[in-house]
Amino acid sequence: MSGAARIKLWLHRRRRPARYAWLPQLLATERLSAEQLMALRQRRLERLVRFARAESAYYREALAALDDGDGIEIERLPVLEKATLRARRDEIRVAARAGVGARLAHTGGSTGKPLSFWIDDDKIERMRAGMMRGYRWCGWEPGEKILNFWGAQQDLKRGPGRRWRDFIAAERTVGAWEFGARELDAWVALIRSWRPVVLQGYASVLAEVARHVRRRGLRLPPLKGVYSTAEVLHDAQREVIESAFGCQVFNQYGSREVPNIALECRHHNLHVFSDLVWLESDPARRFLVTSLSDYQMPFIRYANGDSGRLKPGACPCGSPFPMIEMELCRANDILITPGGRRVYPSWFVHLLDGVAGVRQFQFHQQAADAICLRLVLDAPLDEAVARRLRQRVAAELGQHLRIEPVERIPRGASGKHRFVIAS
Ligand SMILES: [Zn+2]
Repeated sequence: MSGAARIKLWLHRRRRPARYAWLPQLLATERLSAEQLMALRQRRLERLVRFARAESAYYREALAALDDGDGIEIERLPVLEKATLRARRDEIRVAARAGVGARLAHTGGSTGKPLSFWIDDDKIERMRAGMMRGYRWCGWEPGEKILNFWGAQQDLKRGPGRRWRDFIAAERTVGAWEFGARELDAWVALIRSWRPVVLQGYASVLAEVARHVRRRGLRLPPLKGVYSTAEVLHDAQREVIESAFGCQVFNQYGSREVPNIALECRHHNLHVFSDLVWLESDPARRFLVTSLSDYQMPFIRYANGDSGRLKPGACPCGSPFPMIEMELCRANDILITPGGRRVYPSWFVHLLDGVAGVRQFQFHQQAADAICLRLVLDAPLDEAVARRLRQRVAAELGQHLRIEPVERIPRGASGKHRFVIAS
């Protein structure tokens, strides 16, 4: 690291002492055994639950019947549904515990129903420390540069001091909700001149930048890792990103309500950060997520809308963190056929397996028996391929498929690219 980079890091540590104090603690839990980690998780759960029952108006009621004489079993605790969070947000919160910068945060409207919840600076600092631990998995060192491609307009704070903050943080963020060849050229030029070691952003945006790099036949300075976040990462996107940037893609899983839930390792397994989060999968394969560190807005068994299952066994990477497999979806994107069958988004993704030249796609159920497939294509779709797609959708889902080539697919309000929209 250069002298200038070292000075910036020193300045940044002084500006953000909390996250740099957290980081060594987080790194230390990575060295625990799986059993020690489970015991730590249980201790943290019990502490949180007792605190919430004593201090939060909502949990006082929801946990009133809890008998914790012999310890607390997570399976016996009530589930926190999104509807409850919407209706009782301020009762869930422990206002007395809120720290500096307490404010409402909003999730994007990808479900059509925006959600808000309380955060404070402490939560942000813990989140950033958790992210730094994640960057370590690719070999990133504190002070090394990170370039973000962010798709949600609401997250980009402007105003005085932004440039200075970015400068000492060795981090830059470009707004990537609307872009064409000119922006892609500018971003690639930025990668070449500013030389970040980590790129981070929405899978669909990273894939577009990667395709641009390949189309132009450009060579880039070496990167340590690309962190894909907020959206589902498809195999085709992973492939183009890894080949264009010459490094591994690390798929991140988290949400605004509960960040840093899981991260993919070198062996492509998704590990849950079980020192921060207790993740369960209920019998319907819904994820229930408990944040073990958030005391101002306790999320206990929160059904966050994602689904998947726990993956037993140990990973060759040696991490003590348990593994999960995610379904390729957000719950709102499960499509129901006229016959009442539930079709998971992965069905649609695999429908396009082997179809060449697809840059982006979106299946949109426009009526109970009609689906529109929007395609951004490199070359016109072969009629035989189109016929095969229509036949499969008719035979397997009983629905009429209309294929519509488009120039671009608009992003949702959250900036995320949705690939299956149910009616
Ligand atoms: Zn692993």
